[in-house]
Amino acid sequence: MAEEHPILEVRNLKKYFKTPKGMLHAVDDVSFCIQRGKTLGIVGESGCGKSTTGRSILRLIEPTSGEVLFEGRDILRLSKDEMRRMRQKMQIIFQDPYSSLNPRMTISDIIAEPLRLHRLCSSSADCEKRVQRIMETVGLAERLVNSYPHELDGGRRQRVGIARALVLQPSFIVCDEPVSALDVSIQAQILNLMQDLQEQLHLTYIFITHNLSVVNHLADEIAVMYLGQVVEKAPAIELFEHPQHPYTKALLSAIPVPSLKKRTEMQPLTGEISSPINPPQTCRFAPRCPYACDRCTEGVPALRHLGGEHYVACCLCQQ
Ligand code: SF4
Repeated sequence: MAEEHPILEVRNLKKYFKTPKGMLHAVDDVSFCIQRGKTLGIVGESGCGKSTTGRSILRLIEPTSGEVLFEGRDILRLSKDEMRRMRQKMQIIFQDPYSSLNPRMTISDIIAEPLRLHRLCSSSADCEKRVQRIMETVGLAERLVNSYPHELDGGRRQRVGIARALVLQPSFIVCDEPVSALDVSIQAQILNLMQDLQEQLHLTYIFITHNLSVVNHLADEIAVMYLGQVVEKAPAIELFEHPQHPYTKALLSAIPVPSLKKRTEMQPLTGEISSPINPPQTCRFAPRCPYACDRCTEGVPALRHLGGEHYVACCLCQQ
């Protein structure tokens, strides 16, 4: 059987910002690909470049260099008009549903806005019908059509954010910390909804989060980012069971376990985080790594293949 091409392939993506002190390397040579219908989790502390990666892929901010192949086309070379059409297929769900929804618009107008911008409705009745259908899909009651965002709780507001992203019938969605601003009890509902929608609509997700436990059941593959670079990438089960990079191990040890007996030893990170401005050409994790040695300062460790689909950027982890 012929191998399926990835829906998204990111090659050597870089996003640098000019600052008075020098170039800030927010995303520095990031590469990965995702198969259709799958979820790639991107995890790391705040400031590691995971959200900038997601936004650069959608060209919400323009990358400095690299390639982003979506269904085989490098979208960084598309004109404004071509990119506008492409955006129907590539959407984003934001972290804070309250600040991402216009407080002066009703729920139905918020959901219908992308349809109007892309001129996809043949009439107002058609628009209303599409809004109703998508509200039903994401579990929003019809009586809420004329409500305003401030009248809804956090979970319902995030359902509106999801409906707005889905109304254009995209095939790929960047989910940027979509449950971080929600109460724990609501988080599970939204995660279940996103999983159901993925199955029903055959969606492909990039799921960005600082919380590894959130992607545990959702992601097929996980990329761990540290200071703008991917330091480990593996199928989710493999990463949880056999983490290799010292940073991934520290992140996993910080996940709370609901059992006193099963508790693993925490590996708190000490040391200063390196500056992302003009970073040194060494392992960026070295100042916080308990295993750092002379070899770690000999250059930036490349992402090495460990076997299967497991890759690690650490000079101590080799096949
Ligand atoms: Fe730690 Fe060295 Fe590996 Fe970097 S390369 S993670 S400093 S052991």
